[in-house]
Amino acid sequence: MATKEQITINRRMADYFDAPELREMAKKLVKCQELVSHIDVNEVLFLKEMETTPKAAAKCFSLATHPMRYFTNARFCIVFYESNIDYFSKDQRAILLFHEMMHIPAVGDKLVDHDVKDFYDVLKLGIDWNSRGVKVPNILGEGNGDKKGKKKEAAG
Ligand SMILES: [Zn+2]
Repeated sequence: MATKEQITINRRMADYFDAPELREMAKKLVKCQELVSHIDVNEVLFLKEMETTPKAAAKCFSLATHPMRYFTNARFCIVFYESNIDYFSKDQRAILLFHEMMHIPAVGDKLVDHDVKDFYDVLKLGIDWNSRGVKVPNILGEGNGDKKGKKKEAAG
């Protein structure tokens, strides 16, 4: 009989890494997406977890009362579970990050429980947006490297 104890023993250890590329992406989202413009990315810890495969592709945590506060001044933490999303395109990662950032409240430390369906409607995403090879909109406010995009950047 598999006891609860055994299950715990067999569980893989989580393996966390700092994710500066997620921080950079978050900065762009704060600039160009109204719904997350209240976020100070310096108050958020961005991590990748490489080993475990929880149900969620990513998760947002409030650290206000978490023992993690011993190690960091960050108020929130966003974790990408890389084993679940190793096939994601950059555009899909941006949407996932945007989703997690929307859990961060404008005031206080209690995570916002947003309406996922509304969110997908706003971005006009199909229910399969997170499937392999699916094209999704670029929400980072970047040009496509064409002349028009560069011009926009130069204009500030
Ligand atoms: Zn969510």
